[in-house]
Amino acid sequence: MKITILTLFPEMFEGFFNSSIIKKAKYKGLVEYRAIDVRSFTENKHNRVDDYPFGGGQGMIMFPQPMIDALRSVKTEKSHVIMMTPAAPTFTQKKAHELVSNYEDIILLCAHYEGYDERILDYVDEVISIGDYILTGGETAAMVVTDALTRLVKGVITEDSTVYESFENGLLEHPQYTRPVDYEGKVVPEILLSGHHEKIRLFNLKESLRKTYRYRKDLLEKRNLTEEEQVLLNEVISEENEK
Ligand code: SAM
Repeated sequence: MKITILTLFPEMFEGFFNSSIIKKAKYKGLVEYRAIDVRSFTENKHNRVDDYPFGGGQGMIMFPQPMIDALRSVKTEKSHVIMMTPAAPTFTQKKAHELVSNYEDIILLCAHYEGYDERILDYVDEVISIGDYILTGGETAAMVVTDALTRLVKGVITEDSTVYESFENGLLEHPQYTRPVDYEGKVVPEILLSGHHEKIRLFNLKESLRKTYRYRKDLLEKRNLTEEEQVLLNEVISEENEK
């Protein structure tokens, strides 16, 4: 897979491309990453990339020309072009799977300042927001998307690590513990040390339902629970209401 980021701040990606899983994916040859400097494409004699909005309003709006010329310099027939913007559907794990399954060449456009000239959207395939808040620029949003996609590229991490993560089965992941068994009097649930696989499975499923019930009831509403899950959820609800 190839991920190209069009940005006014390519230096922001130096650490990102050279750390952790992203670095590993790059060295394994599984994902190729590039950050392209949009400013280097400007035809403005003062090197400008933006101006005030027509009709009045706050801040500076990025010109179409440098962004579109930068896009043309990297786009191929296979490219899927995405604009990072808060005015878009919210990025989800499902969308991450969809992008990794369907596209080998993804280009992420990052605006900055007050945003971008709307005509740029005529050159993109879709728009993505990473959440209901405003970031200074699309760079951190593009990093979020790049990271989520990279984890799903086959071979980057072991498949088991992704299968059981939050959102993969419509629930939040259950709590996890490691050594020491007793940390300042806070003890790991005994059942996890029992070696009894079925009891551990049920315990983890119930705690996964508890987390989802506490923090993301909306996920429970969207999911068809199995009979077993419904029984466990009923227990969770009465336990939580007793608190
Ligand atoms: N004026 C814009 C609005 O109200 O929709 C916000 C502009 S924001 C300061 C500058 C740029 O950061 C955006 O054009 C977009 O590229 C990026 N950005 C900001 N928040 C984002 C989010 N939640 N998801 C994706 N990109 C975002």
